[in-house]
Parts: sequence; structure tokens; C-alpha cells
Amino acid sequence: MRLILLGAPGAGKGTVAKMLTAIDGSVQISTGDILRAAVKAGNELGQQAEAFMKAGDLVPDTLIMDIMKERLQADDCKAGFLLDGFPRTIPQAQALKTLLVDLEISLDAVVSLDVPKEVILDRLTTRRTCENPDCNAIYNIKSSPPKQEGICDKCGSKVVQRDDETEEAISKRLDVYNAKTAPLVEFYDQEGSLLRVNATSSEVVVAAIRNKLEI
Ligand code: ADP
Ligand code: ZN
Repeated sequence: MRLILLGAPGAGKGTVAKMLTAIDGSVQISTGDILRAAVKAGNELGQQAEAFMKAGDLVPDTLIMDIMKERLQADDCKAGFLLDGFPRTIPQAQALKTLLVDLEISLDAVVSLDVPKEVILDRLTTRRTCENPDCNAIYNIKSSPPKQEGICDKCGSKVVQRDDETEEAISKRLDVYNAKTAPLVEFYDQEGSLLRVNATSSEVVVAAIRNKLEI
């Protein structure tokens, strides 16, 4: 399947994407994961992105489009892809539209994960992430903690709170989301490809997507 997952930070895009990959081998493409891996590796992309990310700001559109242009042409995308955290701005959405036409790829749907604000805030402050860039498993210290505190169930690496998950950076990310990313819901609604789902449970979101795509 080929989907865009839209939603505020903490809406559950990453969790839903990981569940969907198990259905048909589609790959999860998370621009946040790609950028965090680059920061960790200390390469040029990471150096360019780091300060924006730490402050909870968006990384410039041109950097993101360079990454995605290459990423969408990788072999593993032939089985399908789940875009998680991209596009994030109207210019990214417009550039993606052109890119998909060039690559002769069509999307199955754009899914908006709708979650009340209080739930978002609570989830973000209790979220923990596996620091292994090849795993990036997501936990929640309240609702789904790792079996052994601080250790990833899947790969044994450390489970940590992300640098941008301090209260200050979280509130900044939510503001940035409302200003720059929320307008994409309207954009894709006008394109006629939008599926809105109440995303208080990831299982319900996955079921709604399966129902819509008849898979
Ligand atoms: P979130 O949990 O906030 O959805 P992500 O892991 O998707 O977080 O992204 C973390 C950070 O990486 C963002 O705050 C932003 O700095 C940067 N980032 C990720 N994807 C994009 C994008 N498509 N455009 C610009 N910046 C991005
Ligand atoms: Zn792990």
C-alpha cells in the first residue's frame, strides 16, 4: 500500500506505520527517524538538521525533498510505503505531488489521525524511543513500557526520551504543527484522497485503513 499518514506529533503515526508494514511488506519511511540517524552518525545531513530539530523547528523543505526524492526510488519502496512525518508543509506536499507524477507512483490514500490535544500532550511526555536507529521501537512508560525498564524488548538497546521531548520543545512542536502541518488536511481533502480517523486507538486506525483499501 502507498499511504501518507498525517497527524500531530504523538498521534501515533509511527506505531500505525509499523503495524501496517506487517500486512503487506510496505516500508515505513519516517523523515524524523532518517534525520535522527543522520544526527547520530554526525554526517553532513545531520549537521544541517540538528539545531532545527533540537529547537522543535522544521528542517528546511529543500533538505527534506532531497532525502525523499532519493528514498522513494529505493528498491524496497516497490512493495509500497507509509510516509510518516512527511509531507509536513504545503510546499513539501506540492513538491511531493510533482515527484510522484515524475516517478509514476500513485497514492492509495492520505490518512489523517485525529487525536484530542490532551491525549497528545500526555502521550508525548510519556513516550520513550529505542535509540538503535535500525529499530526505533516506540514505548510509553504508562501504557506500553518495555518489559525491562529502559531496555528495548526487540533489540536490547537503550530506550530513551528523545532530545526534542522536553516540555518546551514539545509545546514548540505542537505550535509548528498547527501553523504549518495542520493545513495539509484541507489540502488533501480538496485533492479527494483523505480518510479521517479517530485515532485514540492504533488498532482502530489500522482497521479503518484496511476497510478503506479492502485489504
Ligand atoms: P514527531 O514525533 O514530532 O512527529 P518526527 O520524528 O516526525 O517527530 O520529527 C522530529 C523532528 O524532525 C521534527 O520536529 C523536525 O525538526 C524534523 N522533521 C521530521 N520530518 C520533517 C519534515 N518532513 N519536514 C521538516 N522537518 C522534519
Ligand atoms: Zn530496539
